[in-house]
Amino acid sequence: MQCTSEFLTLHGLSLEENPTTYRTLKTLKHISKGSTIITSPSLACFPIPSMVNIRCNNCLEIPIEPLKTCSRCHKTFYCNVKCQKLAWSAHHKILCPIYKKEGNKVLDNDYMDEEMLRRVALRIEKYLKKKTYYETETVSLTGLNEKVNCETFLTLMSHREKRTPEQLEKFKAIAKNVFSDLDLQNITQDELITYLCRFSCNNFNLDDSQLFPFGEGTYSIGSLINHSCRPNAIMMYSIGQQTSSGLQILRSIENIKAGEEITISYIDVAMSRTSRQKLLNEKYFFKCQCSRCSSDNVSIDITEEERKVLVNIEQLTKMRNNEEINEKNIKDLLISQMQQNQMTNDPISSIISNIIITLLPHLTEETSKSDYIQTLEVLFNKIHTTITNQNFFTTSSLSSATKHFYDRIDLQQWRESWILGRYILTIYLLIYPRFHPIIGLHLFSLAKCMWNDTYKDKDKIVESYEIIKAAKKTLEITHGDGFENRMIVTQVMDLATNMQTELTEIERKK
Ligand SMILES: [Zn+2]
Ligand SMILES: [Zn+2]
Ligand SMILES: [Zn+2]
Repeated sequence: MQCTSEFLTLHGLSLEENPTTYRTLKTLKHISKGSTIITSPSLACFPIPSMVNIRCNNCLEIPIEPLKTCSRCHKTFYCNVKCQKLAWSAHHKILCPIYKKEGNKVLDNDYMDEEMLRRVALRIEKYLKKKTYYETETVSLTGLNEKVNCETFLTLMSHREKRTPEQLEKFKAIAKNVFSDLDLQNITQDELITYLCRFSCNNFNLDDSQLFPFGEGTYSIGSLINHSCRPNAIMMYSIGQQTSSGLQILRSIENIKAGEEITISYIDVAMSRTSRQKLLNEKYFFKCQCSRCSSDNVSIDITEEERKVLVNIEQLTKMRNNEEINEKNIKDLLISQMQQNQMTNDPISSIISNIIITLLPHLTEETSKSDYIQTLEVLFNKIHTTITNQNFFTTSSLSSATKHFYDRIDLQQWRESWILGRYILTIYLLIYPRFHPIIGLHLFSLAKCMWNDTYKDKDKIVESYEIIKAAKKTLEITHGDGFENRMIVTQVMDLATNMQTELTEIERKK
């Protein structure tokens, strides 16, 4: 604990005891949005089951060359000899004979728990064994040392006493297996159960720069940060041989004043308040009291308003057709409805345009958080007075729209894609923090669809150019231009340049 505080202070952060949240991580200095607040390596991380044969089991990279298999157990895969050697000395020397012995295992969640437990246990064991040696390590600004990483993990909440008997039984069985496989001298079998409890409320899913999950990791410093449904920071990941064990990058998506708490979100904040609170309570054992959850102001908690505000597409479809709802029906109707809305003076169409036109400048220009929230409130009042009986934005219509959006992109049906894409953007702008990676990535996809459908139409090019500018601005804040995220920012810049060239060309021809 002492060394954890020391490490955090060096990075301009402070960890305070808190009666309701256990601990609170605050910043001691002003942090501008789009900054990297802190980076830290994992205690252990590895690919999710579907990625085990695709990504290097040491650095998690997808190498250009085919992966090399361990010739003894044939169970693990590496990009090259260097990664294999690193894994060998870290854990594989001990785990290889175990893999060989256990034969083919089903790759599921229990497997993930067991594998994570083995790796973390071996690392903590090594640390505890040589504790006197590690004690001499000085806490430095350059990297997270072993002492801080391991000691911090040992202080994390486990909520063991709140677990169901079934869950504890399952953990007990895994701990028993792992304990008998590894020759642990400094960790007891019972402590391994606590480790498993810690994993279940602290581990992170690793997402790539497109937000697709590819791994799981234990990060002790990252675990110190509390949840908010309106977070001011996000976690990004950098993998590859330079960073070896998956670097976790904490980035600010808002300006954070000195003394303010830093928060991330543990769950998808697009869910309604009830669903969010239920999930947070079941998995993390707390009642969220963030500004969004505790506010009575309905217009701030947008997802709560969804139901009242607009029409649920699926319901509408049902009413109009009076027939069995199936995937194809919904798809076709959604598309035709979107197309109609574009052509007629349908209130839904004007809402979409209204929201996009009103909120887009906030994404491209410097506006304060309160201005943005105020704009949202104005929009909601407007929506309320224009159409009160229609419920257009719901989580289910959002997920079906997202699915059809990607289907249409695959089919290269650009017009249908961008019509759906605008609808999705509208909802995203309302429910996610304005500099959220999901918004940046969606703006980029939308701009591409529009660009492919422009056919030298100047207005269209202008609009797609506005969208790509917003994408660039957002991704620079969320992804930054460091690490492998540089690629996505570069792609956006290239597209923006193309659009600008096209616009200049049209101007010149006039
Ligand atoms: Zn590798
Ligand atoms: Zn092996
Ligand atoms: Zn909340």
